[in-house]
Amino acid sequence: MAPERTPAASTASTENPFLAPSTLPYALPPFAAISIEHYLPAFERGMDEQLAEIAEITASAEPPTFENTLVALERSGSVLRRVSNVFFNQASSDTSEPLQDIEAEVSPKLAAHQDAIHLDASLFARIKALFDARETLDLPDDEALRLIEKYYEEYVRAGAELSAADQGRLRELNAELAGLETTFQRNLLADTKARALVLDSAEALDGLSEDAIAAAAENGRALGYNGKYVLSLKLFSNQSELASLTDRDVRRRLLEASLSRGFSVNREVVRRIVMLRAERAALLGFESHAAYAVGDQTARSVAAVEGMLARVVPPAVANARKEAEALRAANGGAEIAAWDWQFYSERVRKAQYDIDSAALRPYLELERVLQDGVFFAANRVYGLSFTERPDLTAYHPDARVFEVFDADGSGRGLFIADFYARESKRGGAWMNEVVDQAGLLGTRPVVVNNLNIAKPPAGEPTLMTFTEVETMFHEFGHALHGLFSDVRYPYFSGTRVPRDFVEYPSQVNEMWATWPEVLANFARHHQTGEQIPADLVAKMEAAKLFGEGFRTVEYLGATLLDWAWHKLSAGEDPGEDIEAFEAAALEKAGLALPEIPPRYRTAYFAHIFSSGYSAGYYSYIWAEVLDADTVEWFKEHGGMLRTNGDHFRGELLSRGGSLDPMRAFENFRGRAAEIEPLLVRRGLTAVSG
Ligand SMILES: [Zn+2]
Repeated sequence: MAPERTPAASTASTENPFLAPSTLPYALPPFAAISIEHYLPAFERGMDEQLAEIAEITASAEPPTFENTLVALERSGSVLRRVSNVFFNQASSDTSEPLQDIEAEVSPKLAAHQDAIHLDASLFARIKALFDARETLDLPDDEALRLIEKYYEEYVRAGAELSAADQGRLRELNAELAGLETTFQRNLLADTKARALVLDSAEALDGLSEDAIAAAAENGRALGYNGKYVLSLKLFSNQSELASLTDRDVRRRLLEASLSRGFSVNREVVRRIVMLRAERAALLGFESHAAYAVGDQTARSVAAVEGMLARVVPPAVANARKEAEALRAANGGAEIAAWDWQFYSERVRKAQYDIDSAALRPYLELERVLQDGVFFAANRVYGLSFTERPDLTAYHPDARVFEVFDADGSGRGLFIADFYARESKRGGAWMNEVVDQAGLLGTRPVVVNNLNIAKPPAGEPTLMTFTEVETMFHEFGHALHGLFSDVRYPYFSGTRVPRDFVEYPSQVNEMWATWPEVLANFARHHQTGEQIPADLVAKMEAAKLFGEGFRTVEYLGATLLDWAWHKLSAGEDPGEDIEAFEAAALEKAGLALPEIPPRYRTAYFAHIFSSGYSAGYYSYIWAEVLDADTVEWFKEHGGMLRTNGDHFRGELLSRGGSLDPMRAFENFRGRAAEIEPLLVRRGLTAVSG
């Protein structure tokens, strides 16, 4: 059914909930009143209104000032902001065919809209005039100065200084890329669903826990395979069930299904995307998309990223080879295939460290992890408290709304927790902001955390793996970055920082998951309430480094694939043989270990082909340098103390993008970042590289 497209009809202004500010607490979008036919008219209206607002700015007879140009730009586009925030959250968390149709239609239009603004010559002339005069302007503060600099940089990077002909080509490239990125994601979602592993009997699932088998049966029912057991695929390559499934052939089939995702549908899409990105980079004066992409990041240059990677690849590979030896020994000397790696890892972990991952799960019940772990830590470190608001409705029955309070009792924002997997949700875990904090607009933050935890049958508790627990803490770190935002301009709100910086606060928050005081508080048996046995914790600690070789190598494999695809020069055609390109790239990087596939292979690497991480997957380890150094700082300063949390919040978490991120880091740390804590953490110091 095609949504109605009457623009700005008189009824629309009273009925379309996006056209007026929300009257709910914290301007929470009125989700219950939003239906699918509201999106397109609101997008159209939002874009039209913003263009009209910009026309008014450029039509002004007054010379450009900070107020009449940049502040006016920051205020513009309120309808578009509201509808975009809600729509893209919905499109990732709870999509549907009609929603995907809207996304496919609107993505190229939004790209064109952005271009219309970036390539508006009279608007850019005003921004450039302000930039050139920035030292002599009477500006309210440093945030204002930075706003001028960032706007200027953004417009130049978007092509504002190109010739009219080149700008025309740029517009075409952006529109086509926006469409291709949507297609990639859509193809991937469908193919991931189609390649779920369907098994006839519970015996095939031998090794999985009872509740995991029940969940697979439930999944079968939900997907229309009555009486069968279905393992849906998670986004990354190595599916978590591989650690437990005893049937080697089932393991092989599961991993092969995972590794084959997307190749039948995304081959041509990938080829086209990387070629267009290279062409666009050349148009903008860069050697490759990678060079372009890192230009406004904290890394700044291709060489800086490659220098960092060169430091970690050799010792990581050496560690992984040592781990492989241990696994072969555990398998009676026989070779280990990729689908065996997790299974024998688990055995070695049991034998050498006496750890059984499954034995942990009864101590990791979701509600306790959230309330007595994640919220508890935020209370201890930052003084926050949380109250669930069942009276406030989110966009899906599984998404819960919490009000967040500061230590002085004042309301800080809303936190929406959406933890369960569903077919309509994309894979992975992420944070979204549905309302951005900005002093200028008087808005307070509303943030969302999405995880993909398998939903247990009704009435059963949700027992988590420790990795899932760490992911919950990680995403909450992003949530804190959004919730603590205390900036004036929406441009700098919360997590609007360089991509290679944004993972840093979230990684820091992971430290609390294993902090003894926190762990003791949340890791309690879901039936008996008994605390997690101390020896289990001690063993976990001892086993921490085991598997780092594998984890680092699978991560670096994906990083180097991302890098190789985006170092192509304009006109270089990688061809249709994605597999050959991948193999060559991994070989060249020294990461061709057949038993450790990259964490994401090309055809399902959504981060880089549809989620804005192109030439940016290196960001995780880049940010981890800052993270590990920050954890050291907390330890040096007495650990879990409010004073420490307040310092980190004041200098860093509250600042969003309003000052140079590396300066914020130095203000917090008292010096520039050092890499050693990261090398120690990942066990990369023993082998010289
Ligand atoms: Zn993250």
